[in-house]
Amino acid sequence: MPEISRRAASLGTENAFVVLAEVNALAREGKDIISFCIGQPDFPAPQNVQEAAIRAIRAGKHGYTPSAGIDELREAAAKYLAGMRGGLPIRPQDVVVGAGAKPFIAYAILSTTEHGAGDEVIYPNPGFPIYESQIAASGARPVPIHLHEDRNFAFNIQDLEKLLNKRTRLLILNYPHNPTGGCLTRKDLEEVARLLDKHPQVWVYADEIYSRLVFDGAFFSIAQLPGMLERTIVSDGASKTWAMTGWRIGFASNPALAPVFTRWITNTESCASQISQWAALEAITGPQDAAEAMKASFLERRDLIVRLLNEVPGVSCQVPGGAFYAWPNVTEACRRVGAADSEEFRKRLLNDAGVAVLADIHFGMRVPGEGQHVRFSYAASKQAIEAGVQRMADFIRKNTRRAA
Ligand code: PMP
Repeated sequence: MPEISRRAASLGTENAFVVLAEVNALAREGKDIISFCIGQPDFPAPQNVQEAAIRAIRAGKHGYTPSAGIDELREAAAKYLAGMRGGLPIRPQDVVVGAGAKPFIAYAILSTTEHGAGDEVIYPNPGFPIYESQIAASGARPVPIHLHEDRNFAFNIQDLEKLLNKRTRLLILNYPHNPTGGCLTRKDLEEVARLLDKHPQVWVYADEIYSRLVFDGAFFSIAQLPGMLERTIVSDGASKTWAMTGWRIGFASNPALAPVFTRWITNTESCASQISQWAALEAITGPQDAAEAMKASFLERRDLIVRLLNEVPGVSCQVPGGAFYAWPNVTEACRRVGAADSEEFRKRLLNDAGVAVLADIHFGMRVPGEGQHVRFSYAASKQAIEAGVQRMADFIRKNTRRAA
């Protein structure tokens, strides 16, 4: 058989999908599973968005669009991105619409690093697994920057200072953060910008897909700091804010890179779905009640799950500032049940207690000295949260007794 390239063979994946397959297999066997695996809102897209998509279909909006997206959406997205970020001068021609926010991760890496030249990309660890996978597949060097629980899952600025060097081409930031729910404060971002002053060759990829899901205080983007707009790729989209993950609409903004991203899209998917683009236009420009209600509901559920998790023996959970993820520390719980690590704990929790979560190793190498963590996506019903955490507590109690 002809060979598959090393690049393709080395591609990573989102283990959420792998665990989801395990969960589905167990569910098919008739097991009762409560799942906290999947990183998407548990709501349908708002009614007005659904209607806009139906109108687009009926109006015959079935063809290709320009690769950068329909003008109406680029204009609306530019205004939206700017409005969320202190009125930054983002112009429609700076914005490119993609089939989700995810493709821009690869386009940004491909557009800022040379293959095999030793170019380095710094990315958060733990983090969205696609960063590391795409950095490696693009022939650049993945350089993880560790996040710390005692900093509410920000990194230490001294670590960034050590990692930045003349080979660094791109710094990926993600706030609110998947998987920890952590946010970077304005002060953190100012320190990052100050360091980057000394490294003018470094681009920033600001993955701000959870920008609307900040619970404490207002969202603030690194692009708002002096000198940062030009070198920052701001990435946001419709997936999380309007519960449109399957509609595949994201947008990225950068004056110099917009034409480059457009060229990538012409070379890959041609354009995002035209129907989804008209729907996203309605999502951005129409009434925001549904988006606000979803956010309010996530906040209630955040408070619920964090309170309940902190009552579980051997578990402690920081209050995540945004997104819809909780990242409890289960080091002591692992010890109590005799699990070697979070991954064994996760598997036993799934098979013995019927609770599906992801383990820290699904989001990169475990950070030395930070212990064991699992990720709960709390985009689940209150009943599921209550029952799921109760099952986890029962599982730990039962197995602690057995071990003792
Ligand atoms: N970035 C992060 C941090 C995410 O968590 C996700 C979705 N899980 C994405 C990007 C991709 O978003 P989209 O579905 O719009 O491609």
